[in-house]
Amino acid sequence: MNYIKEKTPPVREDRLKACNAFGGSCCELSRTGKKGCLNKTKRTFAQTQGCQLNLSMSILNTIRDSVVIIHGPIGCGGAGLSFGALTTQYHKLRDSNAKGYIWINTNLDEGDVINGGEQKLREAIIFADNEFRPSSIIIVNSCVPALIGDDIDGVVAGLQQQTAAKLVPVHCEGFKTKIMASAYDSAYHGILRNLVDKPEENGYLIEDELEVMKEKYRRSRNVNVLNVSSMSRADELELERLLKALELNVRFLPCFAHPDDFELATEAALNISICATHDDYFVKHLKEKYNIPYILHTIPIGIRNTGKWLLDIAGFFGETDRAKGLIEAETKALNKALEPFRNQLKGKRVLLSGGEIRILTTAELFQDIGFEVLGVRGYHYDEFADPLIDGLPGKENILFNVATGQPFEQANLLEELKPDLYVGHAGINGWAAKQGIPVFPIFVQSLNYMGYSGMYELTKRVAKVLKNTQFSKNLKNNIKLPYKAEWYGKNPFSYIDSSLAL
Ligand code: SF4
Repeated sequence: MNYIKEKTPPVREDRLKACNAFGGSCCELSRTGKKGCLNKTKRTFAQTQGCQLNLSMSILNTIRDSVVIIHGPIGCGGAGLSFGALTTQYHKLRDSNAKGYIWINTNLDEGDVINGGEQKLREAIIFADNEFRPSSIIIVNSCVPALIGDDIDGVVAGLQQQTAAKLVPVHCEGFKTKIMASAYDSAYHGILRNLVDKPEENGYLIEDELEVMKEKYRRSRNVNVLNVSSMSRADELELERLLKALELNVRFLPCFAHPDDFELATEAALNISICATHDDYFVKHLKEKYNIPYILHTIPIGIRNTGKWLLDIAGFFGETDRAKGLIEAETKALNKALEPFRNQLKGKRVLLSGGEIRILTTAELFQDIGFEVLGVRGYHYDEFADPLIDGLPGKENILFNVATGQPFEQANLLEELKPDLYVGHAGINGWAAKQGIPVFPIFVQSLNYMGYSGMYELTKRVAKVLKNTQFSKNLKNNIKLPYKAEWYGKNPFSYIDSSLAL
């Protein structure tokens, strides 16, 4: 894979043959997906569709000491209003002097659609550079300038010599893809082309031979852990604790990193992904360009997948025995701490929603603490889900709905399945809560979720949520969803047209 010479990355419908419309069992999904038959499925009615511009912002707005310019009408990137203050606080968690999240919109209007928006973009870049003196200015392209033919790369090339900040164009126009996760490739594409660069071999200027050896050893134990913006600082600390036990030096990228950190990324001995959906584009290009190996198999959620993740990493460094000892000690202590919760939670039923890798590993975690997993709703499906589906106990009877949003399908499913708990992201959790179902967030920046300590915290909080479910019952009694009674009598997947499957 090498798309870095191209100005824009391919979308995931083309690169990974990803699918975003399916309803059936996990086994059926995996079987037909492996044959490559699901790429063309679609909905004859769709209620919502995520925009990749907004998802790409989940990486881009975390990059410290930067200004993000959204080149588009004022509405594009407007979602930033809801997370701007929090994002600033998370910047400060990593660097107390950080300025926080700064963003500008070029506010294209009807006149610009006719005359072009390049001049507004030029002015915005100059303004951002003079006013904020950031290390990088990230230019996010939206649908309108892409459709009218604004040449944002040309504008950037013309201005780069005049600005102190590094300019990073990102092509993430919403209309190009229905697979929202294409956003990660767009963000990484801009980072790879403009921020990642191997520094000249200036690291071994030390004269003393022993010091040179020490430096070489240090670099041979450096790893990049590729974080995601929805994980917490507590998650990072837990993963760092585990990797330090293997004597590894950890650098977290790309979220909440400084633009200069990306140059140092090429000093790592190994790139460690915690989510293939998020990182495959980045790690494969770093392998291709700088020959840095990578680990991409699973996410460290729950006992089994945290163990797998650690063993993969330890195997690379020849530390398998040490990792096995660590896993055994951690698992023993955790199992003891989980005992009372397992008794309380045994037999409860759950439906999960989120990214394919997160939901499948979280499903295993819930099984481990005694839940019956009724089904999972993944934002999309691609090859990275297959090994996790194959290893999921009881997969024959677990339902898989591939849907980015589509709350009408979810409402129907919840009415039919009536789980004791719904686990999803904040936005969609509200819909489940209105149906009287207790909800729990699938990943949130204020909660430790990953590793062994994450499993304990998650279990403790889930047990607390289920102790008193009156709040959701009150919601249900006072709120009505907008669907007609007939809809609840229909197959929830009535609007998924599989006839276009290859
Ligand atoms: S779909 Fe296009 S117009 Fe809509 S928010 Fe996304 S980039 Fe902007």
